[in-house]
Parts: sequence; structure tokens; C-alpha cells
Amino acid sequence: MAKTRIEWTEMSWNPTTGCNKISAGCKFCYAEIMARRLKAMGLDKYKTGFKLALHEDDLRTPYLWKKPRIAFVNSMSDLFHQDIPLEFIKRVFKVMNENPQHVFQILTKRADILLKYDKELKWTHNIWMGVSVEKEKVMDRIDYLRKTHARTKFLSCEPLIGPLPGLNLNKIDWVIVGGESGRTPRPIEPEWVLDILNKCEDAGVEFFFKQWGGTSKKKSGRKLNGKYYNGMPRVTEGNGELLH
Ligand code: SF4
Repeated sequence: MAKTRIEWTEMSWNPTTGCNKISAGCKFCYAEIMARRLKAMGLDKYKTGFKLALHEDDLRTPYLWKKPRIAFVNSMSDLFHQDIPLEFIKRVFKVMNENPQHVFQILTKRADILLKYDKELKWTHNIWMGVSVEKEKVMDRIDYLRKTHARTKFLSCEPLIGPLPGLNLNKIDWVIVGGESGRTPRPIEPEWVLDILNKCEDAGVEFFFKQWGGTSKKKSGRKLNGKYYNGMPRVTEGNGELLH
């Protein structure tokens, strides 16, 4: 188990690592920076750096967690990367299916591959499936997600680098929004965030505002309208059954 600083999860589980960039949201990929750092530190799991790698041994890990957890699957990769065999993805799903006491959050930018494999996968209640939507150009990822059989569907609009006009939240349960941080972050505009918030409120969709980002994310903070937005789909303790 790996602790994480990501505000909307508890920990990460990485049965695969590595990826390659496919869209504007990937520009300052955190996973790539971390993978290079971990390779330099000599960690065996990252000996190939950011090249795609499958980790059979990690398939055992969730069976060992003593308490129910909320885990982000593949914070260091993309489970629906084109080079990950469907058979391996099915094994990852089997682990999640056999551990209903934990919630598993998966996030992909390869929503077309997600939909292609959808019917081959067993979507138990404890699997939350999300797509990244950083700007209007990639909003078709939401349509792919909507067509899947995932029981809980979410959007990660981070880093939000453009407005999302006409955002359709039909069948979407949760939206996360955040600005880019780092040395040269692309700006986020409050009206883009407020527009998404209003649409979530109108549609009864949970909304989580992660951060404004910028060169000092500590300073810019994560308040919107003077308050924190920490909406999340709810889970009952222990059995992974959704309440909403
Ligand atoms: S898809 Fe995700 S993990 Fe892969 S390069 Fe883009 S941001 Fe990084």
C-alpha cells in the first residue's frame, strides 16, 4: 500500500506502472516525474522508469489490507493503456471483485479502450470508474464512460485548462475539479469552475474542488465561494455498498 497526498482518495495501488502522453492534460504528468525520481532512488519497481510495466506481485496486495480502504488504482499509470493486455486488466478486476470491503477508483484518459473492454469486465459496486476531462476537446470521453456498466462514474477535470461548455452530467455521479500546479502552470478561470459547480448542483451530482493550483498551491488553497467542496459518493463502512 502506498500513502498518497491526493485529497480525494486514501491511498494508491499500482498493479501497473508507466504510460505515455496522449493529450494536453498529460503535459506535466505527475506520474512521469515521480517514476523518474523513484528510478533514480533505486526502487526496483521503477527500474524501467516511466516505461509501461505490469506487476504480478502487486495483485496480491489488496487481500492484505486489514481495514476497508479507498484506493486509487494506477496513480502511476493508466489501466486502459493500449499495451496492457485485456487478460491482465481482467485479473486486476478479479482482485477488486474479490475485495468488496475496499473501494477502488480507476481513472483513464483512454475511454475508447475502456468502452471496448466494458462487457468483458465485472463491474461490482466497489469499483468507481472515472475519465479525465481537462478541456472541451476531450469531452467525448464522458460519452464513452456513460455507455459502460460501471456502477459509479466520475469525472476528473484536473488540470482544468479550458471551459467545458454544454457539459452533460447524465449518469455521472461525481465530479472532481482542480487547477494545475508547478513551475509553469496553465491558468484556471473561476468562471469555468463555477459553471461546472452549477451544473453539478442542478443535476444533483457530487462535487469536489481539489485546488486552484498555480505556482504556490498552498497559498492559492482549495476554497471556492469561501468554502470547501468535498463531495464524494458515499460508501457504507466495511462492505463497499454505495448508499447514493
Ligand atoms: S495518461 Fe495519465 S499517466 Fe499517462 S501520461 Fe497522461 S497523465 Fe500521465
